[in-house]
Amino acid sequence: MHTPVTIIGAGLGGLTLARVLHVHGIPVTVYEAESSPTARTQGGMLDIHDYNGQLALKAAGLMDEFHAIVLEGRQAMRVLDRDGTVLFEEADDGTGGRPEVLRGELRRILLDSLPTGTVRWGHKVGSTRALGEGRYEVTFADGGTVVTGLLVGADGAWSRVRPLLSTATPEYVGKSVVETYLFDADTRHPAAAKAVGGGSMIAPSPGREIFAHRESGDTLHAYVGLSEPQDWFATIDFADAAAATARIAAEFDGWAPELTALITDCDTAPVLRPLYALPVEHRWDRVPGVTLLGDAAHLTAPNGEGANLAMLDGAELGGALAAHPDDLEAALTEYEQAMFVRSAEVGTFEGAEVHGIDSEKNTPQAMLKMFTEQSRQAT
Ligand SMILES: Cc1cc2nc3c(=O)[nH]c(=O)nc-3n(C[C@H](O)[C@H](O)[C@H](O)COP(=O)(O)OP(=O)(O)OC[C@H]3O[C@@H](n4cnc5c(N)ncnc54)[C@H](O)[C@@H]3O)c2cc1C
Repeated sequence: MHTPVTIIGAGLGGLTLARVLHVHGIPVTVYEAESSPTARTQGGMLDIHDYNGQLALKAAGLMDEFHAIVLEGRQAMRVLDRDGTVLFEEADDGTGGRPEVLRGELRRILLDSLPTGTVRWGHKVGSTRALGEGRYEVTFADGGTVVTGLLVGADGAWSRVRPLLSTATPEYVGKSVVETYLFDADTRHPAAAKAVGGGSMIAPSPGREIFAHRESGDTLHAYVGLSEPQDWFATIDFADAAAATARIAAEFDGWAPELTALITDCDTAPVLRPLYALPVEHRWDRVPGVTLLGDAAHLTAPNGEGANLAMLDGAELGGALAAHPDDLEAALTEYEQAMFVRSAEVGTFEGAEVHGIDSEKNTPQAMLKMFTEQSRQAT
């Protein structure tokens, strides 16, 4: 490869690309807005699938490191009715294809696999500009600039690279999640800990749902989903943690106390996360010398695939660049054509309707049907 690769964003997608390029001996620099690897906690658990995320880790040569960070037993799954009745339960026998890891640990193994200096921390991109003939100028918030002949936007939902390719912007999906954490749950919050079990638990209902999982040790991490417009959330003062918790809990009036405890007993201030998505069929015509991956290319409301897809994008783009060292455009075309199809398929996958909690179909029964069909297909 004659052109060093410039990646914007050291998320899971950008780092996977950087690692695969490094494995193939292709020079790469990643510019990341955050000031250091520890500037921000990295959020909860991710299940890494054998059909996408794990393929990326194989291409990155990091399967041993991945197995070392898997949290055993966390693939267990339960579906509860809002009255606390357990409707479905699947144990983790260690053979499943979706082991769970902490996002921060996954990011760490990717970072550790790169030569020192590959990631330039504290480089927030302010704007990007085409210079012609496939070259781009990237301007950082501090006024510094770099010029590159291959620019990859791995900078997530609000990508500063995307405008070079597309006018699309993410739109609110009509749903937000409120994140809560309960620590030392087995001793301090035993009813909630029992309801969640050893892995993940979901209690769905049209317009409202509680999803939680057991992270390392006995920390419970819940995502409380509410289908409401952003104006509705704006009336809640999330700076007042107690009032916000009470207001969200009131929406689950009548639900089993072991479920509402995931809201009322939280040990941290509840965090509101509005959810946005790009159009499912988002794509662009080939523009020389620039492309996107991960959320920058195909942001969806969380469906368990986003981080997995971002990593696979990174691995496939890295593989395509290595396979076409003298033909950058052939590499980008090959990568984009496969990525557009893959992301559109995931965006419209069968379970998406159930996951859309505004849907009347977001019921324990519909979820049960989905799990039963999945188990039948697996056998
Ligand atoms: C509540 C929630 C739960 C989720 N759960 C799951 C799950 O269980 N499984 C799953 O697979 N996916 C899940 N996702 C989706 C997943 O988080 C994303 O799809 C994934 O992180 C995308 O990776 P990425 O590398 O494309 O972008 P990101 O992870 O967003 O990384 C982008 C990076 O770019 C940096 N950056 C941004 N702007 C700039 C700039 N201007 N200049 C320089 N750097 C910049 C950011 O700091 C960041 O480091 C979830 C998402 C949410 C919101």
